[in-house]
Amino acid sequence: MKASARAGANIAFVKYWGQADPELNLPLNNSLSMTLDNAFTLTTVEFLPHLAADALTLNGEPAGAAATRRVTAQLDRLRALAAPQQEPGFRHDAAPNPDSNPVSWRARVESRNSFPTGAGIASSASGFAALTVAAAAGLGLDLTLAELSAMARLASGSACRSLHGGYVEWLAGTSHAGSYAVQIAPPEHWRLIDAVAVVSGEPKEVSSEAGHRLASTSPFLAARLATVDATLAACRAAILARDLVALGEAAEADALSLHAVALTSRPSVWYWNCGTQAVVEAVRAWRREGLPAYFTIDAGPNVHILTLPGHLPAVRARLAEIPAVKEVIVCGPGSGATLLSEHLF
Ligand code: ADP
Repeated sequence: MKASARAGANIAFVKYWGQADPELNLPLNNSLSMTLDNAFTLTTVEFLPHLAADALTLNGEPAGAAATRRVTAQLDRLRALAAPQQEPGFRHDAAPNPDSNPVSWRARVESRNSFPTGAGIASSASGFAALTVAAAAGLGLDLTLAELSAMARLASGSACRSLHGGYVEWLAGTSHAGSYAVQIAPPEHWRLIDAVAVVSGEPKEVSSEAGHRLASTSPFLAARLATVDATLAACRAAILARDLVALGEAAEADALSLHAVALTSRPSVWYWNCGTQAVVEAVRAWRREGLPAYFTIDAGPNVHILTLPGHLPAVRARLAEIPAVKEVIVCGPGSGATLLSEHLF
């Protein structure tokens, strides 16, 4: 009944922005990411009889109503999936017997992110990947990786990518079962560095969920979708060839295209702040000086700097000179979501 999991956040080189089906979180395009080793979530879930409601502790504090509702919604999906498997004769209209019907039990959930929550470093991805893996195990569900990935997607689209380690592509699909992520190369394929320059640890004003809903109001969305397949092909090839220049150029173009859509949505969505701009300008200047580094920015102000291990000391030294940078989280490619034998409570 008690299970724990760890999942890494991920940085998308080709991003998920806008939905074909908001209920199922089916995206408008495939997306491509690297799962991070040093930005992760640990989650413990315990299903208990006689709990009146699911209870979530997030980063050591009781979570607010919205975050708890999102967790309950995902637990409900998994409980519904477990019901017929666990009890072949289970009748949804039967009065649940709280002592003998664990799939109706509420859960105590404790989760910790190793990095700022809600700030564009994909806490929803690692958070819901870890929750899905831990809760599925706690309910005794026997799901394939593709099924776990599709279930995680229902809670947060990009969470489906965090099920896998290394370099990962989310196949957009057109149905629940057909929209899940696959690994295109394992972590050891290429030691790419994502140095996350944290310029704000505060939760963003417009959540990713809200941003997705507004994407269709931008006249630039059509332009983004017209070019995204070519960007995907370029990124895939660059990863397989371990080509930082090709990957960096494609990833920068894709990030700018996402922010062009966000900025031109109605109402306009601004994820950048002055610190974001300062880091972007710096990265462009470093490149002119011969330091190979590229930026990408998720739905949030923090800047992910893509480089290679040999250039990391120079990147760190230069980031230290930018007053807006509060912290640098250095990540490489990490492993996929895993069950843990140690629990948070
Ligand atoms: P981010 O850029 O960090 O993914 P989002 O706005 O997309 O920001 O998602 C942040 C939301 O994800 C939080 O408000 C909370 O609802 C949820 N979340 C973040 N971390 C966790 C976690 N560890 N467990 C459960 N839910 C989480």
